[in-house]
Amino acid sequence: MALIQVFETGDIIKIAIVSGKGGTGKTTLSVNLISALGKGTLVDCDVEEPDAHLYLDVDLKKIHDATVSCPSIDESLCTFCGACSNFCRANALAVLPSSVLVFPNICNGCGGCVLVCEKKAITEISRPIGIVEYGKKGNIEFYSGLLNIGEAKAPPLIKCVKSFADDKLIIYDSPPGSSCPVVETVNGCDYVVAVTEQTPFGLHDLKMIVGLLRQMNIPFGVVINKFGIGNKEVEEYLSNENIKLLVTIPNSREIAILGSQGILLCESDAKWATFFQDMFDVIVAEVSKCKK
Ligand code: SF4
Ligand code: SF4
Repeated sequence: MALIQVFETGDIIKIAIVSGKGGTGKTTLSVNLISALGKGTLVDCDVEEPDAHLYLDVDLKKIHDATVSCPSIDESLCTFCGACSNFCRANALAVLPSSVLVFPNICNGCGGCVLVCEKKAITEISRPIGIVEYGKKGNIEFYSGLLNIGEAKAPPLIKCVKSFADDKLIIYDSPPGSSCPVVETVNGCDYVVAVTEQTPFGLHDLKMIVGLLRQMNIPFGVVINKFGIGNKEVEEYLSNENIKLLVTIPNSREIAILGSQGILLCESDAKWATFFQDMFDVIVAEVSKCKK
């Protein structure tokens, strides 16, 4: 069985679960997949709205304060020459006649301004952006990031949370969309599972994700959730683009009711545990093909 192979061989498998838009069932798939397997690590990379721990029912404890570096100006040394702001591509500095303004939220922490300041008036300080939390349920390890309110720097926190996971099987539950936080989440993954649904919005957002993953050269397959609610356009798109349809999850009243009650599908009925274990086997088979 694929799960045994993963844990008994030297292979490490990193899988990201993504979706072009929220509400597609990405987190439902992530938590059910890891729960059906009963071991491995789940990382909630949706640091602006982490909720996978609620489905898994794990208590979290803070294990790390995440920070980014940011310039601090000593105006007693500054001659207001403007070299730092001229250098800064992010436009995170504004030099006025008698002061220097720093805009921390758009600073990318490159440190270039420190290097170009001949007066040594700039030092780097650490700026908190959020926390990393950890929990455990049976043999499942769980990490989650929580971005500070009003903070715009999701990618560095996602990178930080990912760095804590060390396991043979790691599943990353991505934020929705196809922008920088998703890029950071899928970076370094062996395989990506893109969750979509049979609606015009689902197809539109799936195309965005497909474009991103192809640009990043990361192998991927698609899961259609709530299968049966729409037309055949998503399937036709997958077929035309030669994209692997991994599995379909039916549009079912049973799934909706269990989800609304916060009950994990795979813990509600053995048939669902088998369903997600089989899905994992399909994914691992795809990963193996891509690694050859
Ligand atoms: S480069 Fe240094 S001296 Fe010049 S404006 Fe910036 S902080 Fe001041
Ligand atoms: S660290 Fe880089 S991005 Fe930030 S203010 Fe300095 S030059 Fe700009």
